[in-house]
Formats: sequence, structure tokens, C-alpha cells
Amino acid sequence: MMKARLRDAVGSLAAKSGAIARRESKIRGHLTILCYHRILPEPARSAYHDPDLVVTPEIFRQQCRSLAQHYHVLPLSEALASLNGHTIPERPLAAITFDDGYRDNIVIAAPILREHSLRATFFIVAGLVDTDRLPWYDLAGQAWLTLYPRTGRATVKAELERVKRLMPAQRQIWLTELVERACPHKISDLDRIMASDDLRVLNSEGHEIGSHTMTHPLLPQCEDRALIHELEQSRRDLSEITGRSVPGICYPNGDCDARVRQATEGAGYDYATSVRQGTNDASEFDRFGLKRWFINQERLSTRSGAPSDTLFRMEICGLADSIFRWRRG
Ligand SMILES: [Zn+2]
Repeated sequence: MMKARLRDAVGSLAAKSGAIARRESKIRGHLTILCYHRILPEPARSAYHDPDLVVTPEIFRQQCRSLAQHYHVLPLSEALASLNGHTIPERPLAAITFDDGYRDNIVIAAPILREHSLRATFFIVAGLVDTDRLPWYDLAGQAWLTLYPRTGRATVKAELERVKRLMPAQRQIWLTELVERACPHKISDLDRIMASDDLRVLNSEGHEIGSHTMTHPLLPQCEDRALIHELEQSRRDLSEITGRSVPGICYPNGDCDARVRQATEGAGYDYATSVRQGTNDASEFDRFGLKRWFINQERLSTRSGAPSDTLFRMEICGLADSIFRWRRG
């Protein structure tokens, strides 16, 4: 509560004093990347096993409006290409990214992006395209909440974090047992990963399709052959679907190490995104470890719960990070 009050006060001071606008002008020529996962209306957001990964359509619309007004927004590969340009753009450069490729991205997010003439980048778990299968963590989260409906979201998150670190075979045993006990209920259409046709529509509207591997493993855990398969097959499959090259990849969970980076470059990618927070400095950015701002709508709301454009702008220009150094989600 104290922190929220302080945050509101600092926010209004930053807006009134012009500190946000000054910071935005300072980061012209750098690259700001936003990381979203799902866009779902409120009842579905709080019912989801990890509400931090969900932004509601109302708040997403407000954030798009703000981005269109204060930033020059491009799909990530275009933004990277323009970073090398010699003229510094009038507004700071930003890219909107979505991880995983849920159906809500095309049903709910894409029309809002269209309203504001914004184009984004979607990182897709390629092995789940045109299937009815859910990502394993969603299946696990749903099963867990079916079995233990009163469990707090923090507990579910901690359990999934623990299981994420198990070796894939061990994790599969854990998952099979959990799902057998829970008999998961009907899958909502929005919980699926997009189909080929959806990806083609996004592409035809000027959005970029990127890879998020075949099966969403933690890449450093993969043996060499599996690693190459995750990187190369996803790139090939997605490029076959869209008829275009797939320049970028998002490391699942942001996990990478020197071997993964080298294999990523070797697989022909041009860039990779991480989950490290921050703005990418034009003079020294890391093309295979691009930083992003994780958008958590709760943290960007005022004490009364109202979405705050001031807090959003403070966050993505890096001002909030400099002032608060909050623990990141
Ligand atoms: Zn992911």
C-alpha cells in the first residue's frame, strides 16, 4: 500500500515536471521493446493460472493509444533495421511483441492494434500450430486449479517454476499424473495457439511472425540435436506457413547461454529476445539478447486500481526502473 501510494505520487510528479517527456526524448534512437503474452477480458484474466501474463483489452487499448502518440512503433526486425540508420527519429523507437501465439492475439489484440495502425511481432510455439494441444504450463496450471481451486496464484506460479526446471522426461511424468487426476475441462478457443490461417492473416496485415521454438523447452537443457531441431524446424515451419523468412526468435522463458546463442545464430536467425528488462541502447545493444519491458497491468495501475498512462510511460522509457528498482516479475 505504501509502495503504491509512493508510486502514484512519483508518477504525478514525473508527469508534471516533464521528466517523462525528457526521458522519452533522451531515448530517441534507442529501441524499446514491450513484452505481452495474452489479451483477455477481466473474468478470464483472473481465472487464468498466471494473471500477470494477461492484460485486459481496455488497458491494452489505452497502452496502444499512448504508444501511437509517443513512439514510432515498428515490427521488431524493421525497428532493428532502422536502428542502423543515420538520422535519429523524432520519436523513440518501439516494438510490441507477443510471446507464445495464443488465439486471443488475433481475436482480441489484432483489432486493437489495427485501430491504432500499429504493427507488432508475434513469437509462435510452432509445434502447436494447427493442433488442439495446449502449452504444457497451461495444461498444468488448469489441472492444478481444477484439483485445488482454492490455491493462491502465487503458489501455482511457484510450483510451475519448480517443474519448469525439471528435465523434460521427469516433467512429463509429473504432468501426466496431474492431468489424469484432474481430467481437464473443455479448452477455450482463445487458450489454443493460433492456426496457420491466423498467422497468414497477421502477416498480410504487416505484422511479423517470429519463432518461439517447436515445444517451448528451456533451451540450455536441450542436447545439441534437440536444440538444433527446436531452432531450425520452427523457423522452417513458420516460414513455410507465411511464405516469408522468419528473422527472429524469442528464447522460451528467456533462458539462453553461450551455446544456445551460437546455435541460434547458426540456425540463421538475425536476432533473439530475452526477458531481461531495459531499453536497448543503439550503440551497444545485444542482438541475440534483446532486452524487453514485461507489461504487468497491475503494477502499472494506480492505488485505486485504475490503469495509469503515466505509470505505463514511466515504465517503458526506463524512468520507473531508475527511480524504484522494483523487483521484476
Ligand atoms: Zn513463452
